[in-house]
Amino acid sequence: MSERRILGLKVDVDTRRGMERGVPSLLDTLGAFHVPATFFLSFGPDNSGKAVYQLLRNPRFLVKMLRTNAPGLYGFRTALYGTLLPAPMIASALPGLCREIEARGHEVEFHAWDHRAWQDTLSRKGGAWIREGFLRGFAAYEEALGHRPRAFGAPAWLLTEEAVGVLREFPFEYLSCTRAAAPFVLEGTGLVEVPSDLPCLEEVGGRNGVPRILSALDAGGVHVLPVHAEAEGGIWRDAFAEILRGASERGYAIHPLSRIAADCRRGVLPGRPFRTALLPGRAVPCAI
Ligand SMILES: [Zn+2]
Repeated sequence: MSERRILGLKVDVDTRRGMERGVPSLLDTLGAFHVPATFFLSFGPDNSGKAVYQLLRNPRFLVKMLRTNAPGLYGFRTALYGTLLPAPMIASALPGLCREIEARGHEVEFHAWDHRAWQDTLSRKGGAWIREGFLRGFAAYEEALGHRPRAFGAPAWLLTEEAVGVLREFPFEYLSCTRAAAPFVLEGTGLVEVPSDLPCLEEVGGRNGVPRILSALDAGGVHVLPVHAEAEGGIWRDAFAEILRGASERGYAIHPLSRIAADCRRGVLPGRPFRTALLPGRAVPCAI
């Protein structure tokens, strides 16, 4: 059994609803447990409705949407954003809420400009498109928060060689872009990658999957739990609280991701390129 018991909470905000309703709910839950989280925000348009095209192309996506109760998770309006309804801005429309996250003791980092476009089209995009998204996202981040982000978390844990080439042009201190089992230095960037090694609730079937997540904590060590504002700040709020309670009972201290990354630097981490794999419970392959 490992002596160190440290858990990081990586909260992704992918939609307007996740920002507007999920984030305040999560701030309450985190506040009740007095624990810090690291929020990765999408700043640009919420084009969630365009997922309907994915649904038509990829049957696994449809199965996943049905199994995870997607309408309950994301809401009806979200399903139409970017198609029948105009795409609303996500974090850049709510700068006061961005600052409140920090004011309540959490970290805010950069997740996406257009989350849906990264998910659906990254594999076909070159450096210019990727750079444009980073530039817009950085500008929106700085305008809302008054300083630069320290970290990047790739939307849907998707990376390409082109993306790695562009992200090293930006002054990040660490990355959280993959689902690898342990931290490593991402080749070509020189940056520590702090992966989300635990499954998220969505991948283990929602609240019934809580014991599976907790059993992964039994052996101790350093872990990062991926959390989605839409889900754990919505219909799975109680399940998220159960995970926090279970982690505390197992003797875990909750650290922000910047601290986990800084602790990694002190040791000697292996350097390697990212790989791509289809993980259980996911509709499309992601970086590991
Ligand atoms: Zn995301």
